[in-house]
Amino acid sequence: MNSNHVNPEPGPLPDQPMQLLVHACCGPCLEYPARLLQGEGHQLTIYAYNPNIQPEVEHERRLAALRQLTDQLDLTLFAEGEPQTQQWLEHENITESRCHMCYRVRLEAAARKARDLEIPFFTTTLLVSPYQDQTLIREAGEEAASRYGVTFYFRDFRDGYREGQAMAREDGLYRQKYCGCLPSIDQSRFAERIRREHAELSAR
Ligand code: SF4
Repeated sequence: MNSNHVNPEPGPLPDQPMQLLVHACCGPCLEYPARLLQGEGHQLTIYAYNPNIQPEVEHERRLAALRQLTDQLDLTLFAEGEPQTQQWLEHENITESRCHMCYRVRLEAAARKARDLEIPFFTTTLLVSPYQDQTLIREAGEEAASRYGVTFYFRDFRDGYREGQAMAREDGLYRQKYCGCLPSIDQSRFAERIRREHAELSAR
C-alpha cells in the first residue's frame, strides 16, 4: 500500500449532472463517493475490475460486499476479471512500482468499459483512500482516458474516508484489513489473522 500523501489540485467540477462510470475497489471505499455523487444528481454505473485482490476467496468476499452496497443504493454493477496473482507477485520493474502498475491496469480497464458503455466520464474509489497515491492514480486515469476517448473525473474524496468507513460499519459491510495483493498482506499488522481467515474460507 502506498502512503505517499500528496495534495494535487482538485479537478474542475462539471456544472451539469454527469453520466459517470465509477471504478470501485470495494464496498467500503464506494460508500462516500457514491452517496456524494448521487446526492449531486450524477448518474452512476459501478464497475469492479480488481485483479489485484488476492487470493480468490478475498476477491469473492470484497465483491459480495460491493454487491450488497450497490443493491442497497439501487446502482448497476458490472463486475469483471479474476485475481492475477502471478502478475503482482512477479512484478519487478524499477521504472514502475507495483502500485503504479496496479492503478494502470485497473484504470485502463475502467476507461475501456466507459468507452464500451458510451459513458463519457469515469472515476475511481481509489481516490477516497488516504493510503493511495493520488498523483499516480490521476496520471494513470488521464492516460487511460486519452487512449479510449473518455474523460477521467479526478476528485479528491479523502475528506470522506472516515465517514465512508463509518457508513460501511453501519451497513454491515465486510471491511478488509489489507490493500489487496498478496505482498500487501505482509505489510498488514493483521497478517496472521488474514491468513487464518483465508484458510478457513478456502476450506469451506
Ligand atoms: S493491491 Fe498491492 S499493488 Fe495494488 S495498490 Fe494495493 S499494495 Fe499496491
